[in-house]
Amino acid sequence: MPDAAPTTRAHAAAKRYIYAWGDGRAEGNGSMKDLLGGKGAGLAEMTNAGLPTPPGFTITTEACNDYFEAGKTLPAGLWEDVLAAVEDVEKQTGKGFGDPRNPLLVSVRSGAKFSMPGMMDTVLNLGLNEETLAGLVALTGNERFGWDAYRRFIQMFGRIVLGVHAERFDEPLEARKEAHGHGAGDTDLTVDDLKALVAEFKAVVREDAGRDFPTDPAEQLDLAIKAVFASWFGKRANDYRTSQKIAHDLGTAVNVVTMVFGNMGDDSGTGVAFTRDPNTGESVLYGEYLVNAQGEDVVAGIRTPAQISHLAQEMPAAYAEFQAIGRQLERHYKDVQDLEFTIERGKLYMLQTRSAKRTAAAAVKIAVDMVGEGLIDSREAVARIEPAQVDQLLRDQFDPVARKAAIRLARGLNASPGAAVGRAVFSADDAVEWVARGETVVLVRVETSPDDFHGMAVAQGILTARGGATSHAAVVARQIGKPCVAGCAELVVDYGSKSARSTISGSSFAEGDWISVDGSTGDVFLDALPTVSARFEDQPELQKVLAWADEIRRLQIWTNADKPEEAAQARGYGAQGIGLCRTEHMFREGERLEIVRGAILVANEATRAKLRRDNKAAADAKAALGVELSAEERTAAGVELSDDELAAIATFDAAMGKLEVLQQGDFEGILAAMSGLPVVIRLIDPPLHEFLPNLEEQLVKVTRAGDSATDEDKELLATIKSMHEQNPMLGLRGCRLGLMIPDFVKIQTRAILNAAVAVKRAGKDPRPEIMIPLVGHVNELIATRALLDAEAEAVVAAAGEAIDFKFGTMIEIPRACWVADEIARHAEFFSFGTNDLTQMTFGYSRDDAEGGFLLKYVEDRILPENPFQTLDDVIAAEMQMAVDKGRSARPKLKVGICGEHGGDPASIHKCEKIGLDYVSCSPFRVPVARLAAAQAAMAGDAFRDK
Ligand code: PEP
Ligand code: MG
Repeated sequence: MPDAAPTTRAHAAAKRYIYAWGDGRAEGNGSMKDLLGGKGAGLAEMTNAGLPTPPGFTITTEACNDYFEAGKTLPAGLWEDVLAAVEDVEKQTGKGFGDPRNPLLVSVRSGAKFSMPGMMDTVLNLGLNEETLAGLVALTGNERFGWDAYRRFIQMFGRIVLGVHAERFDEPLEARKEAHGHGAGDTDLTVDDLKALVAEFKAVVREDAGRDFPTDPAEQLDLAIKAVFASWFGKRANDYRTSQKIAHDLGTAVNVVTMVFGNMGDDSGTGVAFTRDPNTGESVLYGEYLVNAQGEDVVAGIRTPAQISHLAQEMPAAYAEFQAIGRQLERHYKDVQDLEFTIERGKLYMLQTRSAKRTAAAAVKIAVDMVGEGLIDSREAVARIEPAQVDQLLRDQFDPVARKAAIRLARGLNASPGAAVGRAVFSADDAVEWVARGETVVLVRVETSPDDFHGMAVAQGILTARGGATSHAAVVARQIGKPCVAGCAELVVDYGSKSARSTISGSSFAEGDWISVDGSTGDVFLDALPTVSARFEDQPELQKVLAWADEIRRLQIWTNADKPEEAAQARGYGAQGIGLCRTEHMFREGERLEIVRGAILVANEATRAKLRRDNKAAADAKAALGVELSAEERTAAGVELSDDELAAIATFDAAMGKLEVLQQGDFEGILAAMSGLPVVIRLIDPPLHEFLPNLEEQLVKVTRAGDSATDEDKELLATIKSMHEQNPMLGLRGCRLGLMIPDFVKIQTRAILNAAVAVKRAGKDPRPEIMIPLVGHVNELIATRALLDAEAEAVVAAAGEAIDFKFGTMIEIPRACWVADEIARHAEFFSFGTNDLTQMTFGYSRDDAEGGFLLKYVEDRILPENPFQTLDDVIAAEMQMAVDKGRSARPKLKVGICGEHGGDPASIHKCEKIGLDYVSCSPFRVPVARLAAAQAAMAGDAFRDK
């Protein structure tokens, strides 16, 4: 396609704000989305490609931004340039703006850089007044068409530009339809109805807007342009941008396009279609159209549209041309297109082309197919899939057995796949309110509009009674990855009683009832059906894309897993190691918690007693050799342990012995499941009170029991009190715990190494790596290592064979980053605990902040992102410093991350830049991380190539 044709028109404004197209050439082109928005760039590109577009022009996003900057005033000269561009369109079409003999009507359409479906405003049929209407009727010989266009214009302009509530127009419109019998539609309205409606609508405008409906086309245009600009900062658009992470300062372009009419009779029509099925990815035209209708009718769900394939019979020539254009655009953009078209008296016009939104399954299939078709290469295929889509593909489905047994309530269109279970709510505001109370909901609406976005965003799924596959509900649900059943026509939804009933099954449900919605099949069930995870094994195309990703990525993907089943699942997903096995998770299961509690109750006393016993033994040994003892040693030698102390040691050792056996079993399972791959096992980390009952509850229990409180309960209360800390996350936890109660380090070391011996003897290849948490000072690491090495030596001696293991540390305290070189001299690997590192660098409690101020901070943009989800740049800088210092002391230092950020695509990009060796994330996120790591590597390559 040719480059942008240089403009010949002079402009009055200081900047060039207008880019026109028509007569087979455009001043802009497809690469100018920043300036022209997606729609304007697409129209320019289609015109340049010789496709039939109605002439028009785009007012740039820059004009929008300058308009707001100047306090909502059009930049000087812009209006003159708009009038000049209108004149050009007049010349090309032979029509006149406001000319009653041959009136030019235009649409005024929003269009930002990123598609924001339905979030901003558009006005059609602009330029109509009583005189131009008469001209339009005379020219077309179609009075009904003219009056229909006029009433639509007043309705749309009134709502969007003059701020009249939509219902104010709906009421008279519905009344006129009802007069033709129940269920009558728009097409039943007669010319007289439409004339009466025009008068009624004008009266509504006068009452509600406090002014007469503007008759001067120039004034209409001026107001409409400003209204479209204003819609950039409308609530819907703002909410949408926030949820989709689109910058708020991009502005919208305004496209002024010659109107073509799909409502000129049965040889006219309008529709939207995708060049491939956006649900499944199948390579067939997919879409809908309506004969004798205007664009908004298709998406508004007012009439039920026909399948696009049906157009082949109704208008074969137009269909064939449309099909060919679809193929041409797909080849040109090398991507699936979402097309809008209108047929005016048999002639096809293309109104929009843009890259199509698609489900995750479709995205993967299309990418793989396009590689097969030679349209794109495998790197491009990897680049095209969004990490969130991979996530979606691994989302739950309904349990097939339960599904079979369930009685279907209703069936609609399978508009966006996945299984959603929740309690029915009937408005977006209710959805938000219920979710804030901790409920899960399914949003049920007759149809959705952009005003419902906030409810859709928090709901598990969406169910609508009206609208097709391209309705608002369907498009938005697919985009935000929510299951949706749309157009469930058998469902009668009553907002008044907040209930819905199926006219076929006769079943009904009310607000608060559980329903299950299958967006993959269109089925709706009463009650909450159980769900099962989507099976990765059944998705060969996804596996193919990820295999391509594996060829590209540099970062390894490990997983955080504490159980053999999790390890096996993650391995199936492609994990290359375990980056974090949190051993304390194993302490909480079943009988173990009781054993752990038993140990904790006597841990301090037993540890102190053991120390005295050991000191005495050392002093006695020295004395036996005839060496003179110091005063301290003499005191130590004179110590006799009390019965209580001996009992504490016995109880403690018995409990710890049991734990050691159980943990060894756990480690054997994990090391066997990960045979041949590294398994990083972290020694106990959390504060001990986490294994004990809550202080308040125990206090209440003992107080309530009064004199009948048991000694056990009282003792437990005393222990809990003695362990109470004001800031437990900054208290006795991590390596501090192991140094205060060394038996924890000892039994865990023995369990790990003995497990390795057992697994090796079973013919497998165990690769344990022992990791110390919460190190802030190098001496903590040195002291822990001494304890650990002594135990390791004993295990090796007992086993009679060498055991290969690595020793390393978490880096999760800011101080550790500063002394990472000192630490690296004693550690073979680092793993960043970015949960704690974020907590301690920001000073935000990771347990409280997200429920408190943090999300508000993000909403108010005090913080760009939730730092517990996406690595903050300062944390990333700390990590970079630690990596640099660590590798300066130990060049082969292996470095990874095991905080939650390890599975977050944006954070993975930062990890790539920092130069980590691997990221470790939950098993479920491993496939996402494989893709994100490849995309990060490509971004890095692109950066280096520059
Ligand atoms: C971390 O702090 O990032 C980490 C992985 O450890 P935990 O979440 O167990 O504190
Ligand atoms: Mg931590």
